Amino acid sequence: MRKKICVLFSIALILLLLIPMPANARFLGHSWPRSGSLTRIPINVGAGIWEGNMHSSVNSWNTHVGHFVRFEHSVASNNLAVKRLNMQGSWFGMAYMWVSGGSSIVQFEIVLNHDHIVAQAINVNNYVRSIMAHELGHILGLADNPSTTSNTIMSHTRQRNIITIPQPFDIESVRIVYGFMSRDIINNEEEDEV
Ligand SMILES: [Zn+2]
Repeated sequence: MRKKICVLFSIALILLLLIPMPANARFLGHSWPRSGSLTRIPINVGAGIWEGNMHSSVNSWNTHVGHFVRFEHSVASNNLAVKRLNMQGSWFGMAYMWVSGGSSIVQFEIVLNHDHIVAQAINVNNYVRSIMAHELGHILGLADNPSTTSNTIMSHTRQRNIITIPQPFDIESVRIVYGFMSRDIINNEEEDEV
């Protein structure tokens, strides 16, 4: 048993060395509590003119990280994504999170600032997708403006007309938040004990 765990640990170290770690990734310090091999995040995307764009952003994250942390459409009244008219201020989007125990997100609301987006966007559809994907990045635990030269959906200076989906840097960052590799090793140890 001890030898096998040691071997697994060595494999883990080798795998960790092989994973391209995003330099200077920035995290919020809270995320969804892991639940088994697949963490599910309910999300209620309201109906309306931007519904398709918002679904597209949800799907863009699910395509890349959905095998271990997945947004699932819900009709529940919590975990909302909404657009609002007549908001004050020159901001595009906001992610509000309710955190339990200092580290676990239990509820959220994403607000898209309709009037400011329409006023500023070169292409409204692209802007909505970029902003929604950015706010979903926060919901997954990523912080603003990682100091990287890689493209990232979490940068406030990104080209919102061009960077409309999570980038490889962002996907690797989420893999780190949810401890994708270390959880695999723990699962192997559990199988040893059967
Ligand atoms: Zn942000």
